[in-house]
Amino acid sequence: MNTDAFDVHESNVRRYGRSFPTVFTRAIGATIWDETGKPYIDFLVGSGALNYGHNHPKILGPAVEYLAGKNILLSLDMNTAAKRDFIEVFVELILKPRSLSYKIQFPGPTGTNANEAALALARKYTGRSSVMAFTNAFHGMSLGSLAVSGSASTREIGGVARHDVVRVPFDSYPNQTFDSAGYIDFVLGDPGSGTEKPAAIILETIQAEGGMNTASASWLSEIQRICRKHDVVLIIDDIQAGAGRTGDFFSFEFAEIEPDIVCLSKSLSGSGNPLSIVLIRPEMDVWQPGEHSGTFRGNNLAFVTAGAMCNMWSDRQFTSGVERTAVNLQRHLDRLVEKFPKCIEQKRGRGLMAGLKCRSEAIFAHAHDVAFENGLLIEASGPNRDVIKILPPITIAEDELDHGIGILDHALTGAANDD
Ligand SMILES: *Cc1c(COP(=O)(O)O)cnc(C)c1O
Repeated sequence: MNTDAFDVHESNVRRYGRSFPTVFTRAIGATIWDETGKPYIDFLVGSGALNYGHNHPKILGPAVEYLAGKNILLSLDMNTAAKRDFIEVFVELILKPRSLSYKIQFPGPTGTNANEAALALARKYTGRSSVMAFTNAFHGMSLGSLAVSGSASTREIGGVARHDVVRVPFDSYPNQTFDSAGYIDFVLGDPGSGTEKPAAIILETIQAEGGMNTASASWLSEIQRICRKHDVVLIIDDIQAGAGRTGDFFSFEFAEIEPDIVCLSKSLSGSGNPLSIVLIRPEMDVWQPGEHSGTFRGNNLAFVTAGAMCNMWSDRQFTSGVERTAVNLQRHLDRLVEKFPKCIEQKRGRGLMAGLKCRSEAIFAHAHDVAFENGLLIEASGPNRDVIKILPPITIAEDELDHGIGILDHALTGAANDD
């Protein structure tokens, strides 16, 4: 297989191309093939950007038709029929059934574009400059998002100062007994804390890149209570955990909270096409016309596939299938935790957003390599890169899930016998 183009010409920055040293060509559902025709089960799914698998027929069908019809592809933020259709179906099938009411901002198409817009809006709305962000958070690669991210290696990338961020402990950080919400409530109320009142608190309900750290429902509703009490904007970065990943459309539904601002991207288009939105509590929509912009706000092909994705959520068969798959996955992972106590410390995550915390980075590395060899793609997260991210498509068929888990079981068997 010829990888010269990458090895010789692509920047040293490339990562997944090294992690999976092959050349991929085709993909359907949970399976991705390389140039030699070897299939792999995909438990990475574009880091959560392909929750509906590769080339889902119900999502791709309308896109193919749209492309063939000489329709608008790029439209800045002009009105287009495709955009109107998306807004209507998103409001009708996603927001209304959940009793949510938001204005929709279309920023640039990446996740970090959404977070930057959310942070800017919260700062404008409150007139305050600092933001509270959590240990092990990951919010993206542009400066504002880097500033609120937690990992040392991520934060150092920008090469400039990252101001106006107050770091606070996430749920169960540094340990189960520490009351991080109580701590936040206290410092916000204490004039001697040295902590100025922030514009916003930004958080992921499950910190994917940070190691699949999972906030409890009670912690989330406590954070919402604290935000309301102190008049601070609550921003949920649902870029990776949202759009169906946890089994619900939004990752915060289980906690019955109603964030002030929600950022969605990654799987929002359902197809791997870049698309982001910022959901804004209507009274916080204090943007002036044209005040925030971005060339690729009008990715109409992504509107079409996103609309098709939203339609799937009105299908009971689809939603109960996702629920069943989440239960199956959790059952599989409980069994692996029990079977490999020497390798695995803990199961993490919720629904179909799962992780296995390995006892060392070496165990992860071994499992990763053997899994790849045998046709399974997995990647690491966490500050020590020792948490296996397990993100099968939420539409994965039962036999494909069993097959992927079987390969993982085999890979962990090897890692267990190694030490
Ligand atoms: C991926 C991710 C981002 C950044 O999205 P990009 O599209 O890479 O800019 C932000 N927040 C979370 C939680 C993510 O997983």
